[in-house]
Amino acid sequence: MKEECAVMGVFGSEDAAQLAYLGLYSLQHRGQESTGITASDGNHIFEHKGMGLVSKVFTPEVIRALPGHLAIGHNRYSTTGLSHQANIQPFLVDCKVGKIAVAHNGNIVNAVELRGRMEVDGSIFRSTMDSEVILHLIARSKKGTLEDMIIEAFGEIAGAYSLVFMTKERVIAARDPRGFRPLCLGSLDGARIVASESCAFDILGAMYEREVEPGELCVIDRTGLHSIRFAERAERLSKCIFEFIYFSRPDSKVFGENVDKIRRELGRRLAEESPAEADIVIAVPDSSNTIALGYSEVSGIPFELGLIRNHYVGRTFIQPRQRVRDWDVRIKFNPVRGVLQGRRVVVVDDSIVRGSTMRKLVSMLRHAGAAEVHLRIGSPPISHSCYYGIDTPTRGELIASTHSVDMIREFLGVDSLKYISLEGLLSCVSDPEHYCVACFGGGYPIESEGEHRKDVFEKDSSG
Ligand code: AMP
Repeated sequence: MKEECAVMGVFGSEDAAQLAYLGLYSLQHRGQESTGITASDGNHIFEHKGMGLVSKVFTPEVIRALPGHLAIGHNRYSTTGLSHQANIQPFLVDCKVGKIAVAHNGNIVNAVELRGRMEVDGSIFRSTMDSEVILHLIARSKKGTLEDMIIEAFGEIAGAYSLVFMTKERVIAARDPRGFRPLCLGSLDGARIVASESCAFDILGAMYEREVEPGELCVIDRTGLHSIRFAERAERLSKCIFEFIYFSRPDSKVFGENVDKIRRELGRRLAEESPAEADIVIAVPDSSNTIALGYSEVSGIPFELGLIRNHYVGRTFIQPRQRVRDWDVRIKFNPVRGVLQGRRVVVVDDSIVRGSTMRKLVSMLRHAGAAEVHLRIGSPPISHSCYYGIDTPTRGELIASTHSVDMIREFLGVDSLKYISLEGLLSCVSDPEHYCVACFGGGYPIESEGEHRKDVFEKDSSG
């Protein structure tokens, strides 16, 4: 049920679906598995959803068939096993307040329990998504207005949620009280825009206004934007630091900060903490480009393009019939021999998850003639799974949960390996106490069912 995604909302433009489409296009990096737009002209709701990229699912004809002045949209990330039609968002249902659609970024940590309870009560579920659980809670509420019904539902759920709802007449945006995932507000010629990241405003020529506050519900209709505080903003927020490390685009503003600025700072700090004797700095494009630039700036070691990325790798490609070693990484990256030959290379990457990509890359760099490979990582070792919406594998698959840094160095075959320290990472943001660092062993801010299940499993397997 993990959802790593992008959400969009538009109110007050005759081209609402078109704007949502463009926004989703710029937020493609947050999810490539499926996409959808739900639009309304005030009387009728229209929707179109499909598997694949935004550019594939939406054609000019499809967009023309989504008329109206309000729309919401969603891109869904690929998570194995759950990639089927029923899980494409926005999720639209008909209940006593009429039709309501929802697009969700985050992960509800008590969804299994809530769903189990509702199923015992006779509820029927169409998907395996958290978002459906939220809609069921709303539909069951006895409150008199939709806002109150949503707020009552929020009282039941725990975890990470940046949500955009739509009815025939309104767009409603909300963010959980701890603010795990980003969500921001913009405007364009009187229209209001809601988006996961501000790069969606740039593509529209819209203006960034502000974040949706943690614990805030923004109701947008013909009368304007009405802000309702449904919960006290948590004393300590749990904003996801991984948005800065890897997930968000560097040209975005996220949690009120420029991603590029923070990512460069990560590189600078990494260079201060862990210098290297080397001739060139290279990035693993594109995610670590900005971190590598920061590293190069402080170390004085020139930044070079030592790896070229093929941007046109689709979700499925025909596997070579002949066994090609490391073909999955080769299809994505190719080393530049002329740059690497005989050079001592600092390779900067944003993170090591399982370690398999880097192991293959290092072997490719050595074959291309790199004399030494010094690996510098812009995040501390990822030792714990995320339960709040970043798609990390189970704990056992995270190399840093079972291997020391030196063991990882050996596994990857690098001459030296250094990760940024947790203090170093947190020194790069302006309000370090308000970030979730659970994936680095920093403690889970909200208890999760997954955590319990995993603990039980671990206890079982350790006898
Ligand atoms: P791995 O082979 O599992 O160690 O993959 C590590 C690479 O995956 C890193 O270079 C990151 O750029 C990228 N990465 C990190 N976190 C994620 C994520 N949540 N989803 C997809 N890719 C990621």
